[in-house]
Amino acid sequence: MAKDYYSVLGVEKKASKDEIKKAFHKLAHKHHPDKPGGNDAKFKEVNEAYQILSDDKKRAQYDQYGQTFDGGAGPGAGYGGGFDPSGFGGFQWSGSAEGFDMNDLGDIFGDFFNQGQGRSRTRRGRDISTEITISFRDAVFGAERHIVIGKVSQCDTCDGSGAKPGTKLSTCKSCNGKGTIHETKRTILGSFATEVVCSTCRGQGKIPDEQCGTCRGAGVRKADSEITVHVPAGIADGQVIRMTGMGEGVAQGEAGDLYIKINVSHHAYIRREGSNLVINHSIKLTDAILGASHTIETLDGPVTIKIPEGINHGDILRIKEKGVTTGRGKRGDFLVKVSIDIPKKLSKKALEEIKKLREEGY
Ligand code: ZN
Repeated sequence: MAKDYYSVLGVEKKASKDEIKKAFHKLAHKHHPDKPGGNDAKFKEVNEAYQILSDDKKRAQYDQYGQTFDGGAGPGAGYGGGFDPSGFGGFQWSGSAEGFDMNDLGDIFGDFFNQGQGRSRTRRGRDISTEITISFRDAVFGAERHIVIGKVSQCDTCDGSGAKPGTKLSTCKSCNGKGTIHETKRTILGSFATEVVCSTCRGQGKIPDEQCGTCRGAGVRKADSEITVHVPAGIADGQVIRMTGMGEGVAQGEAGDLYIKINVSHHAYIRREGSNLVINHSIKLTDAILGASHTIETLDGPVTIKIPEGINHGDILRIKEKGVTTGRGKRGDFLVKVSIDIPKKLSKKALEEIKKLREEGY
């Protein structure tokens, strides 16, 4: 019954934590169900293996017994309240400007694992994840996106009860209204009495006299849900937005969370460095020597800047507060990195003048 988690991740039994993490990272990306050629079953298998092998205690148990035992915090521990309608309440900085923050993924996978723990199955819906790509400009200024996700949601006809509205509910005969039944589990360490969710009433303790016509008594149904994502200004490529309660629903209990990874497209000539925006700007040799006035296209529109006389190659000119919004509404700067375009060919007359300059010691 026990799977070989080491071979699932393709690592040796004595693999270091780092090797395990790397192997997981690679495979999770490869099998991610949102990717072309992704494989949901493989993805979950890889996650499961990682949950065990990345945890010292679980790994030791697994190495010794071929399985693990739970004894940590209760299901759903550490999850906050409802969804903040502003959409910003659940925003989390992943603290990583490049790539998907695997710590956040770890949380998602932690929940896959929690679902195996008896009662939590009916009390909290599955966390789900998706990714969206936004333009460079939208990342700087923030944006609102509408996405459609096919997911299991609580049935809104019966509010998850599974009963046709207005019908009576009777006590479930299988569990006598408790919602759980005792079951004996055999493990290599002996038999354990466990409480499992009653399958007749799905943990509700009651059975409707007439089923809800929309969900056929399930209390949940799979449907496309339109979700509005508020992408905050200043978000960086690879960061993850968590929307509390927007994951999958359950008949009775709270919905899981939705994690949205944000991919930011490149800009044709502007790049981001922290809260600043940076461009390379090439100027003529004569402008460098004599000074000039240049118009720069920022994301806020054209801005005229003064090129001071005697500017050097590599000097940086700063347009204040036209950069990326950081916390508390402050903006970084727009930096113009100057390069001097030295002419390859000069007219005879110009060369004569330059030679004179050299004689003068310039
Ligand atoms: Zn229903």
